[in-house]
Amino acid sequence: MSSLHSIRPWRQIDRRKSRQIMVGNVPVGGDAPITVQTMTNTDSSDVAATVAQVQACAEAGADIVRVSTPDESSTKALREVVKESPVPIVADIHFHYKRAIEAAEAGAACLRINPGNIGDATRVREVIKAAKDHGCSIRIGVNAGSLEKHLLDKYAEPCPEAMIESGMDHIRILQDNDFHEFKISCKASDVFLAAAAYQGLAEITDAPIHLGITEAGGLTSGTIKSAIGLGNLLWSGIGDTIRVSLSADPVEEVKVGYEILKSLGLRHRGVNIISCPSCARQGFDVIKTVEALEKRLEHIKTPMSLSIIGCVVNGPGEALMTDVGFTGGGAGSGMVYLAGKQSHKLSNDQMVEHIVEQVEKRASLIEAEMAADAAE
Ligand code: SF4
Repeated sequence: MSSLHSIRPWRQIDRRKSRQIMVGNVPVGGDAPITVQTMTNTDSSDVAATVAQVQACAEAGADIVRVSTPDESSTKALREVVKESPVPIVADIHFHYKRAIEAAEAGAACLRINPGNIGDATRVREVIKAAKDHGCSIRIGVNAGSLEKHLLDKYAEPCPEAMIESGMDHIRILQDNDFHEFKISCKASDVFLAAAAYQGLAEITDAPIHLGITEAGGLTSGTIKSAIGLGNLLWSGIGDTIRVSLSADPVEEVKVGYEILKSLGLRHRGVNIISCPSCARQGFDVIKTVEALEKRLEHIKTPMSLSIIGCVVNGPGEALMTDVGFTGGGAGSGMVYLAGKQSHKLSNDQMVEHIVEQVEKRASLIEAEMAADAAE
């Protein structure tokens, strides 16, 4: 990380101590970075379409991708998907224990399954044996919308207590079968319900926690809901892996997931653009410039910051804290800042090309610095 972003005590989040499990080759929990997940929405038996979507999500930064496997043709296709995927694949199973066994055999890194929903103890044992034999972890996925009937009868409605009890019942089944490679989620579309259930669970289990606000909505509303729900939990240290659920392209879910983590300093990837909303004082078209730069800089994976500020009111101050900065001045030109220092004047019409060049250069320098730090 560039020295411009050194850790300050008031920026640090103390993460809840969870035990670590592996999802394929990706650690989840403990001191592992918080991972970003998404889920494909292709027909899972269509290998080419599913692989293409998994790859696009991985390219956007997804650490783990979930694929729904509701029938035999999709568990068959899963074998090919797993082979082609650059990231571990979680198979999403709901009720059928055979799909879980097939998915484990097909190479799924993790099964999303609620052991209490798949039938009698023999079936549960068979699924757990398949998971053990094939090195799969399991995610228990409690959802406020599909709580067990006896819990709804007991609590009258979905509530944090019912969700926590459901989660602990499923955990007990796995533990009774000597299976410990599991993580847990307890999602709800209501942020208060989800947050209370997650907080309760976090206190009574050390299992890694998969965070999500389910059925959060479309791109804008779902992003806001997720940022509030997940942001609140992450800020209090809860959460080892996240999935943002949007009625949108899964690639967008990955981008939003990263933005949430980046805002809290929990993960760093790519260019963090700091830009002003613009007003009559702007020395250039801030909105169009930022839109162009967001597209042109998508290929940068190095964690770094760029400030694009319309005028000298806030520009120089922001530029002091970013790796590359541009502040609008007037008369068709502005000032470029590099590594927090004023560097040179630049004409507005060359701005996008020149800034892309400067960001690429700076990214190489930061990469070299990080490699040198790692070698020490
Ligand atoms: S930084 Fe300047 S241009 Fe941007 S919103 Fe503030 S006053 Fe307006």
